[in-house]
Amino acid sequence: MGANVSQLEREIGSDLFPANEHYFGLVNFGNTCYSNSVLQALYFCKPFREKVLEYKAKNKRPKETLLSCLADLFYSIATQKKKVGSIAPKKFITRLRKEKEEFDNYMQQDAHEFLNFLINHINEIILAERNAGPSHGNGNGNGKSSGGGASTSQMATSTASKSSSTSNSNSNSNSTSNSTTTNGNSSNSTGSLNAAAGAAAATTSVLDASGGLTATTTPLVQTNGANSEPTWVHEIFQGILTSETRCLNCETVSSKDENFFDLQVDVDQNTSITHCLRCFSNTETLCSDNKFKCDNCCSYQEAQKRMRVKKLPMILALHLKRFKYMEQFNRHIKVSHRVVFPLELRLFNTSDDAVNPDRLYDLTAVVIHCGSGPNRGHYISIVKSHGLWLLFDDDMVDKIEASTIEDFYGLTSDIHKSSETGYILFYQSRDCA
Ligand SMILES: [Zn+2]
Repeated sequence: MGANVSQLEREIGSDLFPANEHYFGLVNFGNTCYSNSVLQALYFCKPFREKVLEYKAKNKRPKETLLSCLADLFYSIATQKKKVGSIAPKKFITRLRKEKEEFDNYMQQDAHEFLNFLINHINEIILAERNAGPSHGNGNGNGKSSGGGASTSQMATSTASKSSSTSNSNSNSNSTSNSTTTNGNSSNSTGSLNAAAGAAAATTSVLDASGGLTATTTPLVQTNGANSEPTWVHEIFQGILTSETRCLNCETVSSKDENFFDLQVDVDQNTSITHCLRCFSNTETLCSDNKFKCDNCCSYQEAQKRMRVKKLPMILALHLKRFKYMEQFNRHIKVSHRVVFPLELRLFNTSDDAVNPDRLYDLTAVVIHCGSGPNRGHYISIVKSHGLWLLFDDDMVDKIEASTIEDFYGLTSDIHKSSETGYILFYQSRDCA
Protein backbone atom coordinates (compact mmCIF):
# COMPACT_ATOMS: atom_id res chain seq x y z
CA MET A 1 0.00 0.00 0.00
CA GLY A 2 1.39 3.42 0.87
CA ALA A 3 2.40 5.49 -2.13
CA ASN A 4 0.86 3.02 -4.54
CA VAL A 5 -2.59 3.51 -3.16
CA SER A 6 -4.79 5.48 -5.48
CA GLN A 7 -7.04 8.27 -4.39
CA LEU A 8 -10.08 6.10 -4.96
CA GLU A 9 -8.69 3.37 -2.73
CA ARG A 10 -7.91 5.96 -0.08
CA GLU A 11 -11.42 7.34 -0.29
CA ILE A 12 -13.01 3.95 0.03
CA GLY A 13 -10.51 2.87 2.66
CA SER A 14 -8.51 -0.32 2.52
CA ASP A 15 -10.66 -1.98 5.17
CA LEU A 16 -13.82 -1.24 3.28
CA PHE A 17 -12.61 -1.97 -0.23
CA PRO A 18 -14.69 -4.93 -1.37
CA ALA A 19 -12.70 -8.12 -1.67
CA ASN A 20 -12.34 -9.46 -5.21
CA GLU A 21 -13.78 -6.30 -6.70
CA HIS A 22 -12.08 -4.07 -9.24
CA TYR A 23 -12.97 -0.57 -10.28
CA PHE A 24 -11.41 0.07 -13.65
CA GLY A 25 -12.12 2.93 -15.98
CA LEU A 26 -12.27 2.34 -19.72
CA VAL A 27 -10.10 4.31 -22.13
CA ASN A 28 -11.97 6.31 -24.74
CA PHE A 29 -11.11 5.58 -28.38
CA GLY A 30 -12.71 8.66 -29.84
CA ASN A 31 -16.28 9.24 -28.74
CA THR A 32 -16.63 5.72 -27.41
CA CYS A 33 -18.13 6.92 -24.14
CA TYR A 34 -21.51 5.60 -25.36
CA SER A 35 -19.95 2.13 -25.23
CA ASN A 36 -17.86 2.64 -22.08
CA SER A 37 -20.83 3.86 -20.06
CA VAL A 38 -23.03 0.93 -21.08
CA LEU A 39 -20.26 -1.63 -20.53
CA GLN A 40 -19.67 -0.34 -17.00
CA ALA A 41 -23.38 -0.50 -16.23
CA LEU A 42 -23.54 -4.07 -17.53
CA TYR A 43 -20.40 -5.09 -15.68
CA PHE A 44 -22.08 -4.13 -12.43
CA CYS A 45 -25.28 -5.98 -13.26
CA LYS A 46 -24.32 -9.02 -11.25
CA PRO A 47 -26.18 -11.77 -13.14
CA PHE A 48 -24.91 -10.44 -16.44
CA ARG A 49 -21.30 -10.24 -15.33
CA GLU A 50 -21.48 -13.75 -13.91
CA LYS A 51 -22.83 -15.19 -17.14
CA VAL A 52 -20.26 -13.41 -19.26
CA LEU A 53 -17.42 -14.66 -17.04
CA GLU A 54 -18.94 -18.14 -17.10
CA TYR A 55 -18.97 -17.96 -20.89
CA LYS A 56 -15.30 -17.02 -20.79
CA ALA A 57 -14.52 -19.98 -18.52
CA LYS A 58 -16.40 -22.44 -20.71
CA ASN A 59 -15.05 -21.25 -24.03
CA LYS A 60 -11.31 -21.41 -23.81
CA ARG A 61 -10.64 -20.74 -27.45
CA PRO A 62 -13.73 -19.28 -28.97
CA LYS A 63 -14.02 -17.89 -32.44
CA GLU A 64 -13.69 -14.15 -32.04
CA THR A 65 -17.09 -12.53 -31.68
CA LEU A 66 -18.32 -9.46 -29.91
CA LEU A 67 -19.28 -11.74 -27.03
CA SER A 68 -15.82 -13.29 -26.82
CA CYS A 69 -14.32 -9.79 -26.84
CA LEU A 70 -16.71 -8.70 -24.11
CA ALA A 71 -15.89 -11.82 -22.10
CA ASP A 72 -12.16 -11.10 -22.46
CA LEU A 73 -12.69 -7.54 -21.32
CA PHE A 74 -14.76 -8.53 -18.28
CA TYR A 75 -12.26 -11.25 -17.43
CA SER A 76 -9.41 -8.83 -17.74
CA ILE A 77 -11.07 -6.39 -15.34
CA ALA A 78 -12.03 -9.14 -12.90
CA THR A 79 -8.51 -10.57 -12.74
CA GLN A 80 -6.48 -7.38 -12.40
CA LYS A 81 -3.88 -7.43 -9.69
CA LYS A 82 -4.58 -3.82 -8.83
CA LYS A 83 -7.92 -2.86 -7.39
CA VAL A 84 -8.31 0.31 -9.39
CA GLY A 85 -6.95 1.65 -12.63
CA SER A 86 -7.98 1.86 -16.24
CA ILE A 87 -8.03 -0.52 -19.11
CA ALA A 88 -8.29 -0.09 -22.87
CA PRO A 89 -11.20 -2.00 -24.44
CA LYS A 90 -9.40 -1.92 -27.76
CA LYS A 91 -10.27 -5.38 -29.00
CA PHE A 92 -13.92 -4.90 -28.13
CA ILE A 93 -14.18 -1.56 -29.93
CA THR A 94 -12.34 -2.88 -32.98
CA ARG A 95 -14.71 -5.82 -33.13
CA LEU A 96 -17.73 -3.56 -32.61
CA ARG A 97 -16.68 -1.38 -35.52
CA LYS A 98 -16.32 -4.48 -37.67
CA GLU A 99 -19.69 -5.85 -36.62
CA LYS A 100 -21.82 -2.85 -37.27
CA GLU A 101 -21.25 -0.18 -39.81
CA GLU A 102 -23.12 2.48 -37.82
CA PHE A 103 -20.52 2.24 -35.08
CA ASP A 104 -17.57 2.21 -37.47
CA ASN A 105 -16.63 5.85 -37.06
CA TYR A 106 -15.64 8.35 -34.45
CA MET A 107 -19.00 9.99 -34.05
CA GLN A 108 -21.08 10.14 -30.93
CA GLN A 109 -23.60 7.31 -30.85
CA ASP A 110 -26.75 6.72 -28.92
CA ALA A 111 -26.01 4.64 -25.83
CA HIS A 112 -29.44 3.03 -25.92
CA GLU A 113 -29.03 1.99 -29.54
CA PHE A 114 -25.71 0.50 -28.61
CA LEU A 115 -27.17 -1.39 -25.65
CA ASN A 116 -29.98 -2.66 -27.83
CA PHE A 117 -27.54 -3.82 -30.47
CA LEU A 118 -25.16 -5.40 -27.98
CA ILE A 119 -27.77 -7.40 -26.07
CA ASN A 120 -29.46 -8.65 -29.22
CA HIS A 121 -26.18 -9.45 -30.87
CA ILE A 122 -24.89 -11.41 -27.88
CA ASN A 123 -28.13 -13.33 -27.81
CA GLU A 124 -27.74 -14.21 -31.47
CA ILE A 125 -24.18 -15.37 -30.92
CA ILE A 126 -25.31 -17.67 -28.13
CA LEU A 127 -28.09 -19.06 -30.31
CA ALA A 128 -25.80 -19.53 -33.29
CA GLU A 129 -23.18 -21.28 -31.16
CA ARG A 130 -25.86 -23.48 -29.66
CA ASN A 131 -27.08 -24.41 -33.12
CA ALA A 132 -23.58 -25.17 -34.25
CA GLY A 133 -22.92 -27.18 -31.12
CA PRO A 134 -22.66 -30.94 -30.62
CA SER A 135 -26.41 -31.57 -30.52
CA HIS A 136 -26.65 -30.52 -34.11
CA GLY A 137 -23.82 -32.74 -35.26
CA ASN A 138 -21.47 -31.74 -38.01
CA GLY A 139 -24.03 -31.89 -40.76
CA ASN A 140 -24.22 -28.38 -42.03
CA GLY A 141 -22.80 -27.02 -38.82
CA ASN A 142 -22.21 -23.47 -39.82
CA GLY A 143 -25.08 -22.35 -37.66
CA LYS A 144 -25.90 -19.75 -40.17
CA SER A 145 -29.07 -21.25 -41.49
CA SER A 146 -31.02 -21.20 -38.29
CA GLY A 147 -31.75 -18.87 -35.38
CA GLY A 148 -28.73 -16.65 -35.26
CA GLY A 149 -28.22 -15.77 -38.86
CA ALA A 150 -31.79 -15.53 -39.92
CA SER A 151 -32.86 -13.25 -37.19
CA THR A 152 -30.62 -10.28 -37.70
CA SER A 153 -33.40 -8.34 -39.30
CA GLN A 154 -35.35 -8.42 -36.08
CA MET A 155 -32.85 -6.48 -34.09
CA ALA A 156 -34.45 -3.16 -34.54
CA THR A 157 -36.44 -1.68 -31.80
CA SER A 158 -40.07 -2.04 -32.53
CA THR A 159 -42.96 -0.04 -31.30
CA ALA A 160 -45.36 -1.89 -29.09
CA SER A 161 -48.56 -0.48 -30.40
CA LYS A 162 -49.46 -0.14 -34.02
CA SER A 163 -47.04 2.31 -35.35
CA SER A 164 -46.67 4.67 -38.17
CA SER A 165 -42.95 4.36 -38.22
CA THR A 166 -40.80 1.31 -37.89
CA SER A 167 -37.55 2.94 -38.70
CA ASN A 168 -34.36 1.31 -37.61
CA SER A 169 -33.22 4.01 -35.35
CA ASN A 170 -34.62 3.78 -31.89
CA SER A 171 -37.75 5.20 -30.52
CA ASN A 172 -36.91 8.76 -31.30
CA SER A 173 -39.40 8.92 -34.08
CA ASN A 174 -42.22 9.06 -31.63
CA SER A 175 -44.21 11.93 -32.91
CA THR A 176 -44.37 15.05 -30.89
CA SER A 177 -45.63 17.20 -33.68
CA ASN A 178 -49.14 17.27 -32.35
CA SER A 179 -48.01 18.69 -29.08
CA THR A 180 -46.01 21.61 -30.30
CA THR A 181 -48.63 24.09 -29.31
CA THR A 182 -47.70 26.22 -26.37
CA ASN A 183 -48.95 24.46 -23.34
CA GLY A 184 -47.56 26.23 -20.36
CA ASN A 185 -50.50 25.08 -18.28
CA SER A 186 -49.50 21.48 -18.45
CA SER A 187 -50.90 19.98 -15.31
CA ASN A 188 -47.90 18.74 -13.45
CA SER A 189 -45.39 21.36 -14.42
CA THR A 190 -44.55 24.02 -11.96
CA GLY A 191 -43.70 27.53 -12.89
CA SER A 192 -42.25 28.81 -16.06
CA LEU A 193 -42.02 26.35 -18.85
CA ASN A 194 -41.21 27.94 -22.11
CA ALA A 195 -43.13 26.97 -25.18
CA ALA A 196 -40.89 24.14 -26.16
CA ALA A 197 -40.76 22.66 -22.69
CA GLY A 198 -44.49 22.87 -22.44
CA ALA A 199 -44.78 21.10 -25.73
CA ALA A 200 -42.89 18.07 -24.66
CA ALA A 201 -44.68 18.00 -21.35
CA ALA A 202 -48.06 17.78 -22.96
CA THR A 203 -48.20 14.05 -22.93
CA THR A 204 -51.89 13.64 -22.61
CA SER A 205 -52.40 15.00 -26.07
CA VAL A 206 -49.62 12.79 -27.36
CA LEU A 207 -51.47 9.83 -25.95
CA ASP A 208 -54.66 10.55 -27.74
CA ALA A 209 -53.69 12.17 -30.93
CA SER A 210 -50.65 10.38 -32.16
CA GLY A 211 -52.27 7.05 -32.63
CA GLY A 212 -51.47 5.63 -29.26
CA LEU A 213 -47.74 5.66 -29.58
CA THR A 214 -47.40 5.91 -25.87
CA ALA A 215 -44.69 3.45 -25.30
CA THR A 216 -42.29 1.29 -27.12
CA THR A 217 -40.44 -1.79 -26.16
CA THR A 218 -37.47 -3.56 -27.50
CA PRO A 219 -38.09 -7.21 -28.20
CA LEU A 220 -35.34 -9.75 -28.09
CA VAL A 221 -34.81 -12.06 -30.97
CA GLN A 222 -36.82 -15.14 -30.26
CA THR A 223 -35.64 -18.64 -30.25
CA ASN A 224 -37.32 -20.98 -32.64
CA GLY A 225 -38.02 -24.63 -33.20
CA ALA A 226 -35.80 -27.10 -31.45
CA ASN A 227 -33.84 -24.32 -29.82
CA SER A 228 -36.70 -22.73 -28.02
CA GLU A 229 -35.07 -22.85 -24.63
CA PRO A 230 -34.29 -19.37 -23.48
CA THR A 231 -30.71 -18.18 -23.49
CA TRP A 232 -29.16 -16.58 -20.44
CA VAL A 233 -29.72 -13.23 -22.10
CA HIS A 234 -33.45 -13.98 -22.17
CA GLU A 235 -33.30 -15.15 -18.57
CA ILE A 236 -31.69 -11.95 -17.40
CA PHE A 237 -33.36 -9.24 -19.44
CA GLN A 238 -36.55 -10.54 -20.91
CA GLY A 239 -39.92 -9.67 -19.54
CA ILE A 240 -43.38 -10.04 -21.01
CA LEU A 241 -45.89 -7.31 -21.67
CA THR A 242 -49.50 -8.05 -22.23
CA SER A 243 -51.70 -5.70 -24.16
CA GLU A 244 -55.41 -5.93 -23.50
CA THR A 245 -57.82 -4.48 -25.98
CA ARG A 246 -61.50 -4.08 -25.22
CA CYS A 247 -63.83 -3.54 -28.13
CA LEU A 248 -66.19 -0.69 -27.22
CA ASN A 249 -68.91 -2.17 -29.42
CA CYS A 250 -69.11 -5.75 -28.16
CA GLU A 251 -66.99 -5.47 -24.99
CA THR A 252 -64.87 -8.44 -25.98
CA VAL A 253 -61.42 -8.28 -24.44
CA SER A 254 -58.53 -9.71 -26.37
CA SER A 255 -55.01 -9.85 -25.12
CA LYS A 256 -51.67 -10.36 -26.71
CA ASP A 257 -48.30 -10.99 -25.12
CA GLU A 258 -45.02 -9.64 -26.31
CA ASN A 259 -41.49 -9.90 -25.05
CA PHE A 260 -39.33 -6.99 -24.17
CA PHE A 261 -35.87 -6.47 -22.90
CA ASP A 262 -36.32 -2.89 -21.95
CA LEU A 263 -39.20 -0.51 -21.46
CA GLN A 264 -39.01 2.83 -23.16
CA VAL A 265 -40.91 5.49 -21.34
CA ASP A 266 -41.86 9.04 -22.20
CA VAL A 267 -40.59 11.66 -19.81
CA ASP A 268 -42.79 14.37 -18.29
CA GLN A 269 -41.56 17.41 -16.43
CA ASN A 270 -41.21 17.11 -12.65
CA THR A 271 -42.29 13.53 -12.38
CA SER A 272 -40.88 10.20 -11.38
CA ILE A 273 -40.20 6.89 -13.01
CA THR A 274 -43.28 5.52 -11.31
CA HIS A 275 -45.32 8.19 -13.07
CA CYS A 276 -43.66 7.37 -16.41
CA LEU A 277 -44.48 3.71 -15.95
CA ARG A 278 -48.06 4.53 -15.04
CA CYS A 279 -48.35 6.55 -18.25
CA PHE A 280 -46.83 3.66 -20.10
CA SER A 281 -49.78 1.57 -18.96
CA ASN A 282 -52.46 4.22 -19.33
CA THR A 283 -55.58 3.17 -21.12
CA GLU A 284 -55.65 4.63 -24.58
CA THR A 285 -58.64 4.88 -26.82
CA LEU A 286 -58.26 3.63 -30.33
CA CYS A 287 -60.52 5.68 -32.54
CA SER A 288 -60.90 7.49 -35.86
CA ASP A 289 -58.02 6.41 -38.12
CA ASN A 290 -56.70 4.16 -35.49
CA LYS A 291 -59.61 1.81 -34.85
CA PHE A 292 -59.16 -1.75 -33.74
CA LYS A 293 -60.14 -4.68 -35.93
CA CYS A 294 -62.42 -6.68 -33.70
CA ASP A 295 -62.58 -10.37 -34.58
CA ASN A 296 -65.91 -10.69 -32.88
CA CYS A 297 -67.54 -7.78 -34.68
CA CYS A 298 -65.61 -8.57 -37.89
CA SER A 299 -65.06 -4.87 -38.38
CA TYR A 300 -63.03 -1.91 -37.22
CA GLN A 301 -64.32 -0.60 -33.93
CA GLU A 302 -63.33 1.89 -31.32
CA ALA A 303 -61.52 0.17 -28.52
CA GLN A 304 -59.59 0.72 -25.35
CA LYS A 305 -56.15 -0.64 -25.01
CA ARG A 306 -53.63 -0.87 -22.25
CA MET A 307 -50.29 -2.53 -21.77
CA ARG A 308 -49.16 -4.03 -18.53
CA VAL A 309 -46.22 -6.07 -17.40
CA LYS A 310 -47.00 -9.77 -17.13
CA LYS A 311 -43.55 -11.13 -16.43
CA LEU A 312 -41.08 -8.95 -14.59
CA PRO A 313 -37.50 -9.40 -15.76
CA MET A 314 -34.52 -10.10 -13.54
CA ILE A 315 -32.85 -6.91 -14.74
CA LEU A 316 -35.31 -4.21 -15.61
CA ALA A 317 -33.81 -1.76 -18.07
CA LEU A 318 -35.70 1.49 -18.46
CA HIS A 319 -34.95 3.81 -21.33
CA LEU A 320 -36.02 7.39 -20.79
CA LYS A 321 -36.99 8.82 -24.14
CA ARG A 322 -35.05 12.03 -23.86
CA PHE A 323 -34.39 12.60 -27.53
CA LYS A 324 -37.50 13.73 -29.32
CA TYR A 325 -38.00 14.82 -32.83
CA MET A 326 -39.33 18.36 -32.91
CA GLU A 327 -40.84 19.37 -36.18
CA GLN A 328 -40.30 23.08 -35.69
CA PHE A 329 -36.57 22.51 -35.31
CA ASN A 330 -36.41 19.70 -37.85
CA ARG A 331 -34.20 17.70 -35.55
CA HIS A 332 -34.08 15.73 -32.36
CA ILE A 333 -33.74 17.74 -29.23
CA LYS A 334 -32.96 16.63 -25.76
CA VAL A 335 -35.71 16.65 -23.18
CA SER A 336 -33.98 17.42 -19.90
CA HIS A 337 -37.10 17.14 -17.75
CA ARG A 338 -36.59 16.27 -14.15
CA VAL A 339 -37.59 12.66 -13.64
CA VAL A 340 -36.86 11.20 -10.23
CA PHE A 341 -35.71 7.61 -10.18
CA PRO A 342 -35.82 5.91 -6.80
CA LEU A 343 -33.20 3.58 -5.38
CA GLU A 344 -35.94 1.03 -4.80
CA LEU A 345 -38.66 0.35 -7.30
CA ARG A 346 -41.78 -1.74 -7.41
CA LEU A 347 -43.88 -1.96 -10.53
CA PHE A 348 -47.53 -1.06 -10.23
CA ASN A 349 -48.42 -1.55 -13.86
CA THR A 350 -48.53 -5.32 -13.67
CA SER A 351 -51.29 -7.47 -15.12
CA ASP A 352 -53.70 -9.40 -12.92
CA ASP A 353 -52.11 -12.67 -13.95
CA ALA A 354 -48.53 -11.47 -13.54
CA VAL A 355 -46.13 -14.19 -12.44
CA ASN A 356 -44.09 -12.16 -9.99
CA PRO A 357 -45.85 -8.82 -9.51
CA ASP A 358 -44.22 -8.02 -6.17
CA ARG A 359 -40.65 -8.12 -7.34
CA LEU A 360 -38.67 -5.43 -5.61
CA TYR A 361 -35.96 -3.78 -7.64
CA ASP A 362 -32.82 -1.97 -6.58
CA LEU A 363 -31.19 0.62 -8.75
CA THR A 364 -27.90 -0.89 -9.89
CA ALA A 365 -26.62 1.38 -12.63
CA VAL A 366 -27.53 4.48 -14.58
CA VAL A 367 -26.18 5.56 -17.94
CA ILE A 368 -26.16 9.35 -17.92
CA HIS A 369 -26.23 11.64 -20.91
CA CYS A 370 -24.40 14.92 -20.47
CA GLY A 371 -25.04 17.64 -22.98
CA SER A 372 -27.72 19.23 -25.06
CA GLY A 373 -28.46 16.90 -27.94
CA PRO A 374 -28.34 13.32 -29.18
CA ASN A 375 -25.32 13.76 -31.41
CA ARG A 376 -23.23 15.77 -29.04
CA GLY A 377 -22.31 15.54 -25.43
CA HIS A 378 -20.94 12.77 -23.38
CA TYR A 379 -22.01 9.61 -21.58
CA ILE A 380 -20.96 8.56 -18.11
CA SER A 381 -22.41 6.01 -15.74
CA ILE A 382 -22.97 5.55 -12.06
CA VAL A 383 -23.11 2.11 -10.53
CA LYS A 384 -23.75 0.59 -7.17
CA SER A 385 -21.24 -1.92 -5.95
CA HIS A 386 -21.19 -3.47 -2.48
CA GLY A 387 -23.16 -0.56 -1.12
CA LEU A 388 -20.82 2.03 -2.67
CA TRP A 389 -21.78 4.37 -5.47
CA LEU A 390 -19.16 4.96 -8.14
CA LEU A 391 -19.05 7.26 -11.10
CA PHE A 392 -17.35 6.03 -14.26
CA ASP A 393 -16.32 8.69 -16.73
CA ASP A 394 -14.32 6.83 -19.37
CA ASP A 395 -10.98 6.06 -17.71
CA MET A 396 -11.83 7.97 -14.52
CA VAL A 397 -13.52 6.37 -11.54
CA ASP A 398 -14.76 8.30 -8.53
CA LYS A 399 -16.64 7.41 -5.42
CA ILE A 400 -19.78 9.46 -5.00
CA GLU A 401 -22.33 9.87 -2.26
CA ALA A 402 -25.77 8.42 -2.87
CA SER A 403 -27.16 11.94 -2.52
CA THR A 404 -25.27 12.95 -5.69
CA ILE A 405 -27.66 10.78 -7.70
CA GLU A 406 -30.23 13.57 -7.43
CA ASP A 407 -28.02 15.67 -9.66
CA PHE A 408 -28.89 13.37 -12.53
CA TYR A 409 -32.67 13.62 -12.34
CA GLY A 410 -32.80 16.47 -14.83
CA LEU A 411 -33.77 20.13 -14.93
CA THR A 412 -36.96 21.73 -13.74
CA SER A 413 -36.94 24.23 -16.57
CA ASP A 414 -35.39 25.22 -19.87
CA ILE A 415 -35.41 22.38 -22.30
CA HIS A 416 -32.45 23.61 -24.34
CA LYS A 417 -29.95 23.86 -21.58
CA SER A 418 -27.22 21.33 -21.36
CA SER A 419 -27.90 18.82 -18.64
CA GLU A 420 -26.65 15.64 -17.05
CA THR A 421 -29.60 13.32 -16.97
CA GLY A 422 -30.36 9.69 -16.31
CA TYR A 423 -30.90 8.05 -19.69
CA ILE A 424 -30.92 4.30 -19.13
CA LEU A 425 -31.73 2.88 -15.72
CA PHE A 426 -30.85 -0.65 -14.68
CA TYR A 427 -32.86 -2.08 -11.84
CA GLN A 428 -31.95 -5.47 -10.47
CA SER A 429 -34.49 -7.70 -8.83
CA ARG A 430 -33.64 -8.18 -5.19
CA ASP A 431 -34.39 -11.91 -5.34
CA CYS A 432 -31.41 -12.45 -7.64
CA ALA A 433 -28.92 -10.33 -5.74
ZN1 LIG B 1 -66.23 -6.05 -31.10
